[in-house]
Amino acid sequence: MKVPMLDLNAQYEPIKEVVLQSIKEVFDSKRFINGPQIKELEEKIAEYCQCKYAIGVSSGTDAIIISLMAMDISEGDEVITTPFTFFATAGCIYRVGAKPIFVDIDPKTYNINPDLLEEKITERTKAIIPVHIFGQTAEMDKINEIAKKYNLYVIEDAAQAIGSEYLPGGINITQNKSNYNRNNIPQGESKRAGSLGDVGCFSFFPSKNLGCCGDGGMVTTNNEELAEKIRILRAHGSKPKYYHKIIGGNFRLDTIQAAVLLVKFPLLEKWHKGRQDNAKYYDDRLKDVVGIPYIENYNRMIYNQYTIRTKNRDKLQQHLQESNIGNAIYYPVPLHLQECFAYLGYKAGDYPEAEKATKEVVSIPIYPELSYEQKDYVIENVINGIRI
Ligand SMILES: *Cc1c(COP(=O)(O)O)cnc(C)c1O
Repeated sequence: MKVPMLDLNAQYEPIKEVVLQSIKEVFDSKRFINGPQIKELEEKIAEYCQCKYAIGVSSGTDAIIISLMAMDISEGDEVITTPFTFFATAGCIYRVGAKPIFVDIDPKTYNINPDLLEEKITERTKAIIPVHIFGQTAEMDKINEIAKKYNLYVIEDAAQAIGSEYLPGGINITQNKSNYNRNNIPQGESKRAGSLGDVGCFSFFPSKNLGCCGDGGMVTTNNEELAEKIRILRAHGSKPKYYHKIIGGNFRLDTIQAAVLLVKFPLLEKWHKGRQDNAKYYDDRLKDVVGIPYIENYNRMIYNQYTIRTKNRDKLQQHLQESNIGNAIYYPVPLHLQECFAYLGYKAGDYPEAEKATKEVVSIPIYPELSYEQKDYVIENVINGIRI
């Protein structure tokens, strides 16, 4: 048997006709730039993310860059983030001229550890970028509290977390209730990723829970001023056209991508559910074998990745490889040890939990279309791979 890491064929097949029709409509209209589909998608994503505004952009990476630009973060500024994330999070900080400052992770959730945050704040700190890693929100109450105290912006890197939820105050509400789980959270009390900070950055890269047919992204916010500035920055800072008060870039989302996303968007909740069901199936059968994902009971996890953890990671990975089971290491090198960040002067040992995670984690297939045969095959081979 073969189980790919992600099966975009299985996702595409049932919606093929509608996707092609929606692309055809874009070609027929020739409104490749700023077609009406952009606004329609922005409204849908804003509502879904419980935000007043959503601005389509060219990628998840550009969503972060344009947010930093809108906040006037540049040379001399520092921005705090996690070393255990996709490169873009820190790369964007560098690209606006600021300095990335890392804070180690909580080894249970792999998210930034807010208890270590405050000691890294200086008078140059301008923002914090928590990453909702693998689809579980970071500890936003504590992060927002610190941000408020020091007057910092909070940029959620929600690239992996569209539809994830966090219950504000949940850390206290759910304390001492061992049987509490997020199904008990009264509806409307938990908040979606993208509405938890000043801005939320989303990616529609094909491997995310909501993916387009190329690159695409979105910024969400409840801040009218930031929304307006991001909209202007998206088109070279021009308003009105050809008059530039500020310097932006070409950060637009293509109409074709919006058209494809409009077809896929109504299926997103169903896909989340498929991933959550798969995760439950894995959890029950793997919990005594490897470290399974740890989800805080006040979080709703959307499982962009299902990441397991073991000291025998390399052997396990080799066994999965030989068994034709797709897998990936997110992430093999913590960002503070990336060659390009050598100038920051970090060394091995600086962020022990992130470093340990890079040696022990492996993500296995979790996409919604997995069959029971495939899941059983993955489980069987994780168990066998550990025993070797
Ligand atoms: C995918 C991803 C990005 C970048 O998104 P792109 O659309 O590929 O530019 C940024 N941060 C995280 C955590 C991601 O997973």
